[in-house]
Amino acid sequence: MFFGGEPTMNIAAINRVFDALGGDNAPQLFGIVTNGTFSRKEIQHLLETHKMTLTFSIDGPQDIHDFLRPYSDGRGSFNTVLDNLRWAQQFTRVGVEATFTPDHIKRGYSLVDLIEFFHSIGIDGPHIVPVAPRNGYRGFEPDILIREYKQAIDYCLQSFVEGRPRWYTLLVNILGAFADGRKREYLCPAGVSTLCVDSNGDLHPCFMFVGAAEFLLGNIFHLDKSDFEKRRDTFIRAARKSNRSNCSSCWASNICGGCMGSAFWATGCLTDNDPAWCELQRQTIAYAAQRLSKLHSDQAAWQCFVDTLTKATNDVE
Ligand code: SF4
Repeated sequence: MFFGGEPTMNIAAINRVFDALGGDNAPQLFGIVTNGTFSRKEIQHLLETHKMTLTFSIDGPQDIHDFLRPYSDGRGSFNTVLDNLRWAQQFTRVGVEATFTPDHIKRGYSLVDLIEFFHSIGIDGPHIVPVAPRNGYRGFEPDILIREYKQAIDYCLQSFVEGRPRWYTLLVNILGAFADGRKREYLCPAGVSTLCVDSNGDLHPCFMFVGAAEFLLGNIFHLDKSDFEKRRDTFIRAARKSNRSNCSSCWASNICGGCMGSAFWATGCLTDNDPAWCELQRQTIAYAAQRLSKLHSDQAAWQCFVDTLTKATNDVE
């Protein structure tokens, strides 16, 4: 995954990495997370010649997106980004990552509004994450987020019953955890199944740890493999929920997900969890379980839910 800054400002580097990792014969699928303000001419060549997905950072409808993501001269970027997204949809799979902030609430946008907005531009299953607390900024009051998440769960479950599915990643994660019954051993994939290479060649467990020197894993230009393995093993041990504070005694431990980077920046400690995030996870999981159980007691509604879910899952695959 090529991630910003803005990766499309250095297409030559993307081509170099792509070729070095095996090009179109590489086992992995490549992706770019972009702010969507790129020049189409350069990207078109990339999309036509390589297997690439594009994920656009869009924070919602025009006024909130322009407020949060203006150009350096103050102009809003929404129209350009939306045009480029529509254009890119003809070449490849396009997704969206949105950061949900207290400014959304101030401007009257709920999580449900965002899910509907993204559906209206052809994006289902957007990745919507609350703004990460960092450098003393704590973002939302926790009860506001809990309210938003519960409303979104109600809305999405009902949409499945009505045969017009709407979903976003958190719901998929929870339903997936209920459905497959597998234990979520790690809070997130950082260091376990993801690595991040920054523009200096430094290796990090994920982009959220760029700037945290204590978790630097090495540098691709002069890699000491055994030192890298040692550092990565130490990180992965700390990442395991069984080694994280409070997780082993938490009933949500087999299901919950999160972001170790956010937890680290919120608490200053790799193995500590952000209590506000944990509360959000527990309340959301419990609420989803309760709503699913209620839905299950209505046989007709449950059957509609399952049919729509099955169809949506097949469509995505
Ligand atoms: S909700 Fe928090 S304490 Fe509970 S398992 Fe998840 S990260 Fe650990």
